Amino acid sequence: MNFNTVKFLISAQTLQQCPADNGYEVAFAGRSNAGKSSAINTLTRNKGLARTSKTPGRTQLINHFEIEPDKRLVDLPGYGYAKVPKALKAKWDRNLAEYLQNRSSLSGLILLMDIRHPLQDYDQQMLNWAAQARLPVHILLTKADKLKRGPAMNSLLGVEKLLRDMDPGFTLLSAQIFSSLKKTGLPELEEKLTSWLSH
Ligand code: GDP
Repeated sequence: MNFNTVKFLISAQTLQQCPADNGYEVAFAGRSNAGKSSAINTLTRNKGLARTSKTPGRTQLINHFEIEPDKRLVDLPGYGYAKVPKALKAKWDRNLAEYLQNRSSLSGLILLMDIRHPLQDYDQQMLNWAAQARLPVHILLTKADKLKRGPAMNSLLGVEKLLRDMDPGFTLLSAQIFSSLKKTGLPELEEKLTSWLSH
């Protein structure tokens, strides 16, 4: 699958504003600063794309990109954002939950975590929720270039151990090392996306 020609489609605030729920889409989620924009730029070889999602006013929207007809990437709001009034945050959380629970074309979730501190509270929450919904999750341990190979592998093994406890057959949950800076793990990510976006 060719990710180089991905185009911005629409920013949606609610499930109703999302594109027609046809075909397949894969959503990217993670704490703010986990490296989500960088990973999307690396994947699409397009620095402008994730910038689109970071445009003020779009950071808390569900940003849809088209890979080819009926195949989409979705950039979800980064969580852990500070300085937002509680009522507004609660509204975003509801919109996001509604999207995650009702979107039929959603075929998988890419969950990004900094390899140096993976599986924080909200990451665990996303993982538990996805497991209950039987939604496949692939974890990207980002910024792997910040660690030497040994510690990076230890982080991966620790995450995989938890995933195996949650999903003994490893059928719905998986993880890999990733670095946007060095392009580490890019083919593995592309393979996962291609399998989720094809039937
Ligand atoms: P987002 O908030 O999740 O979209 O995160 P960004 O993609 O904006 O990245 C947050 C910070 O981490 C930025 O300063 C990036 O330059 C840095 N960063 C992202 N990916 C990598 C990576 O693979 N290696 C290193 N060393 N830094 C990265």
